[in-house]
Amino acid sequence: MSFIEAIARKRDGGSLAQEQIAAFVRGASDGSLPLEQLAAMLMAICCRGMDAGETRCLTEEMLNSGEVWDLAGDRPEVVDKHSTGGVGDTVSLVLAPMLAAVGVPVAMMAGRGLGHSQGTLDKLDALPGWDSTRNRGETVDLIDRCGAAIIAQTEEIAPADRTLYALRDVTATVPSLALIVGSIMSKKLALGAGALILDVKWGTGAFRKTVASARELAAALRQVAVDTGIRCEALITDMNQPLGPALGTACEVREAVAILSGGGDARLREVTVRLCRGAMILRGWDAEDASAALDRVLADGSALAAWERIAVAHGADPDPDLLARPRSTIEVLASAGGFVTACDGEDLGRIAAEVGAGRRRVDEELAHGAGVLVHARIGDRIDAGQPLATLLVGERELDQERLVDRLREAFTIGSEPVDPPELILGTVEDIAP
Ligand code: URA
Ligand code: CA
Repeated sequence: MSFIEAIARKRDGGSLAQEQIAAFVRGASDGSLPLEQLAAMLMAICCRGMDAGETRCLTEEMLNSGEVWDLAGDRPEVVDKHSTGGVGDTVSLVLAPMLAAVGVPVAMMAGRGLGHSQGTLDKLDALPGWDSTRNRGETVDLIDRCGAAIIAQTEEIAPADRTLYALRDVTATVPSLALIVGSIMSKKLALGAGALILDVKWGTGAFRKTVASARELAAALRQVAVDTGIRCEALITDMNQPLGPALGTACEVREAVAILSGGGDARLREVTVRLCRGAMILRGWDAEDASAALDRVLADGSALAAWERIAVAHGADPDPDLLARPRSTIEVLASAGGFVTACDGEDLGRIAAEVGAGRRRVDEELAHGAGVLVHARIGDRIDAGQPLATLLVGERELDQERLVDRLREAFTIGSEPVDPPELILGTVEDIAP
């Protein structure tokens, strides 16, 4: 049967057979199908959707298009964590050492910044010497030496995803649930940790804008994990404003160190602790024991010591004095008093990227000292002249006045008090569909 018939079948709302999905994924990874047929199939999938069986089949075909590490084969105790992305999301830098400190090893394949969100690999690059390109053997070795491996996705992992992701980006087919699940989960299954904790964001700064659509994504991701034998929990958390106060690279590492030292931002700490606890429960811990152990490692310095071990094992010097500093800082003050009613994380993230934490061209150097510090959160009462944010200026030449105006405009100040959005909505099971 020709692939055109498969496209027609999906176009008309039918289900694809395993061979048809396999032909599609093979076509994307070895070039055996023309781009116009791949693009047409993407659009048909985007418009018609895929059922749970098709989605699982797509994920497995994408997984098998490349190297499959199956870390659980050698280290069954390892946990992976994934966030669907956001702003001020410093969680991975805090979670890995906390879990290592309680004896739950972690492996994560992290990414670079994309659009308005800063990437974990870029943040780690703020530490001089950090080397995230590791093969499977080196990754197992890192886990054994320091309890955590935070590495870059290799070229050999899920190559079909690279072709399909690039095509989705230029064919308006990124939002398809089945395509998102296949893309994310093929890479998670390739790493192959035995347990996976998911942080699915909802809100204005997330790519799922409603609780219902975030829940739908969380349930679909979790279903594929559970069906393929991975223990998995998915939390739905708030991204209607930045999670942590630091948006950038070096400044996010500093914020992570502050939390690991027992201080830092309460919201970022709460989400990280909850995800750590979820991961520990997947590994058989009792919930109360897990909470007590996490409190202890933050209070007694062992989480910070784990962070230093992890940094050294990855080739970096953990001395915070070596982190880049901003060349200058500009305080952005509220022009009127009132209550913060909205805080546009997407624009704040874009400003942080422009000032130096992201790339305007693929080969642009980051300015690691640059970024944004957010001081006001939704629900806060503020006076005129009180700081809303600080712009951390790095090496890039930019129109600072315009950036300061944009920073100020990212905050909406109203006269009536509002309740801050709930930080952690719960797991997929806690939320009615
Ligand atoms: N992240 C991915 O890796 N793929 C998607 O499709 C969306 C988010
Ligand atoms: Ca290397």
